Amino acid sequence: MSQLLIVGAGPAGALAAYLAAKVGVSVTLIERHETFDREFRGEVLMPSALRVFDDVGLTDAWARVPQQAIDAVELFWRTKGIRKFRFRGPSSISQPALLEMLVEEAAQYPGFTLVRGEGVRDVIVENDRVAGVVTEEREHRASFVIGADGRFSTVRRKAGMTVTSPQQAFDVVWCRVPSDGTNSARAYLGGGHMTLAIPAHGNMLQVGWVIKKGAYGDLKKQGFEAWVHELAAQIDPPFRAHLLAHTEAMESRAVLSVVCDAVDDPVRPGLLLIGDASHAMSPIGAQGINVALRDAVVVANHLFRALAAGAPPEKLDAAARAAHEERRPEIRKIQKIQQRAPRMIFGPRILTWLTYIGFRTRLADVILRLTAGSFATGVTDVSYDPGPSKPPSVPI
Ligand SMILES: Cc1cc2nc3c(=O)[nH]c(=O)nc-3n(C[C@H](O)[C@H](O)[C@H](O)COP(=O)(O)OP(=O)(O)OC[C@H]3O[C@@H](n4cnc5c(N)ncnc54)[C@H](O)[C@@H]3O)c2cc1C
Repeated sequence: MSQLLIVGAGPAGALAAYLAAKVGVSVTLIERHETFDREFRGEVLMPSALRVFDDVGLTDAWARVPQQAIDAVELFWRTKGIRKFRFRGPSSISQPALLEMLVEEAAQYPGFTLVRGEGVRDVIVENDRVAGVVTEEREHRASFVIGADGRFSTVRRKAGMTVTSPQQAFDVVWCRVPSDGTNSARAYLGGGHMTLAIPAHGNMLQVGWVIKKGAYGDLKKQGFEAWVHELAAQIDPPFRAHLLAHTEAMESRAVLSVVCDAVDDPVRPGLLLIGDASHAMSPIGAQGINVALRDAVVVANHLFRALAAGAPPEKLDAAARAAHEERRPEIRKIQKIQQRAPRMIFGPRILTWLTYIGFRTRLADVILRLTAGSFATGVTDVSYDPGPSKPPSVPI
């Protein structure tokens, strides 16, 4: 029996497992997929997340993950460029390669076990305390369970946790085309639309078309050609020509049904939720992976040190509660900022026009820099604290 069970090897679960193993906690990480080439997930990391890798001793390992730096952000109003500002720091990464790197690094420590290809079906509750999980294959038990199984978390559902999920106005249709050689992230606003173009690793461009919630069915009915031409009409001529030259690449696309939610209380005796399982983020500002990684660091500071020190159950629960309390202000603040942008795009026409006028003034620079600052560096100070009494954690 491990001291710690983590369900879900996404960014939150994989980093948490690495950090637990690093301080000498015996940890089992359970992932339902056999490989990390699972459904498409986010790829943009902000400086706040990049700092995490330095902080936790993964600078060299991180450098091996395929990535593409993003140098600037450009704003367009319909097809005309209106603002460009340098924004050094974000990077687009290959998420499967990132996760593979994290589990490889964790595997250097003797206490780490990765179980691939087992989906968790239920949680085991004994004496009002979560004592493990049940997969299709067997039971796994531990002193503490972390649910990091993403936005449709089974652990959350089976533990009976409730979620507050404000209605979102939009969804995003993502596709990838070859790079057009630009290293800026671009956002095309106006006319009730928003299109995003983000430089991606592997010399690619990630294109996102922001559509009204639920409108994807109508788009599909219109047919692919009509869809591409409607998208192309929203962007500047050089980018339009580039997309039209690569329409075959756009055929493989993924729809992100946008959710921005938070579990009312992600702590139960013996259980804590982190990452999307605890709070799915809106895609505005590319925050999902960043906050998931930062969750793992804070949980390591509180809970893994307690586990490594052999703390009794009530101390573990108190450590989990402290981790949640530390993360809550950042999650709330970022989600609040994320809710503003859709109002400017899909809100009443007057608001859209005020936004346009605002974008043309110097005030826009100040607001955009403040917003970008929260997205880039985070809202609270999160740093990894290995602690004075770090137990020996000798790699094999
Ligand atoms: C299309 C799309 C685009 C996005 N773009 C960005 C972006 O650019 N930047 C950004 O920061 N964020 C982005 N996000 C969000 C980001 O991907 C997530 O916020 C981030 O991956 C959350 O990490 P996580 O570890 O909490 O959960 P996840 O990455 O969802 O990982 C959960 C893991 O749990 C596993 N799992 C699920 N259920 C079970 C089960 N029952 N048993 C065992 N294992 C299970 C899953 O297979 C998965 O590996 C995007 C998301 C999507 C879907």
